[in-house]
Amino acid sequence: MSAVVCIGSLNVDLVVRVARMPDTGETVTGHALERHLGGKGLNQALAARRAGGDVALVGAVGSDDGGAWMLRELGHEGIDLTAVSVVEGPSGTALIEVDARGANRIVVVPGANGWLTSDYTSAEVSRLAPARIALAPLEVPPVAVLGALRAARSEGMRTILNTAPVPAEGLPQGILDVTDIVVANEYEASLIAQRSVDGIEPAYAAARALRDLGAGSAIVTLGADGAVWSTPEGEGHTPAYPVTPIDTVAAGDAFCGVLAASLARDLPWEDALRRASAAGALATTVAGAAPSLPSADAIDRLVAAHPLEDT
Ligand code: ADP
Repeated sequence: MSAVVCIGSLNVDLVVRVARMPDTGETVTGHALERHLGGKGLNQALAARRAGGDVALVGAVGSDDGGAWMLRELGHEGIDLTAVSVVEGPSGTALIEVDARGANRIVVVPGANGWLTSDYTSAEVSRLAPARIALAPLEVPPVAVLGALRAARSEGMRTILNTAPVPAEGLPQGILDVTDIVVANEYEASLIAQRSVDGIEPAYAAARALRDLGAGSAIVTLGADGAVWSTPEGEGHTPAYPVTPIDTVAAGDAFCGVLAASLARDLPWEDALRRASAAGALATTVAGAAPSLPSADAIDRLVAAHPLEDT
């Protein structure tokens, strides 16, 4: 039995480094072509797994080499892949150009991720029940996330929705009503709550607004300013751990995955948030997404080294 069921995207990240970005119609020579695991569903499942969780992933890969490669890699990590379908066509792929200054340009092809339907995700979530936690970001068709969270709720799981990315048409109607904990970054919280979120005080107001919209509890992550939260029991601020960031890719994914794994172990709320915050901080200290997701040991060490006072 898995403790955490993660529903979401799996992508092959193809990263090419260039001295400078090409202009329209121009060709530049790239170097250091790298292939990495990516996609928010995959990253969050991997973050939960590395933090010690028993994790199952619900999603789809294509029938290409990238799909087979992702399944192999995730199998080595010990993730239950029985709910990852192989569908005809390309896997989700992100084409990422990074220039000498570290700025990037990204084109994402959803590929197999676009195949997910509400019928599929709800049936797989029910099959994987009982689990403690269902965790879903929004990088697959939003109706498939809604179906998954509804099924998880009716199976008695605690549901976590990560609002990354907010769909152009907004959140699916009713999704926050089946969300026990919503996790949004400042930008996403401002889109959903339709108010500016810039700093800790406005983030409290946004977290309350997310609860007014239907979520049981809300967490607004603030990058180097940590995260604020609002629950039926109270409100608080979890500070960020002091690190020297290299790139912030996957900080939010690390945070969500480790929050899920920690709550699945029945850790108290504030301890779970500290571990999530430590994981987010550690993810910024290593380049890339999957390579930057920390182990349980690394999280333990950072938490032990810096006892934080919640405010
Ligand atoms: P996202 O990646 O979704 O935009 P954030 O940037 O808010 O999310 O990061 C998620 C969490 O990761 C933060 O709440 C914080 O705990 C941690 N984090 C992110 N950036 C830093 C940083 N520069 N220093 C320390 N912790 C960070």
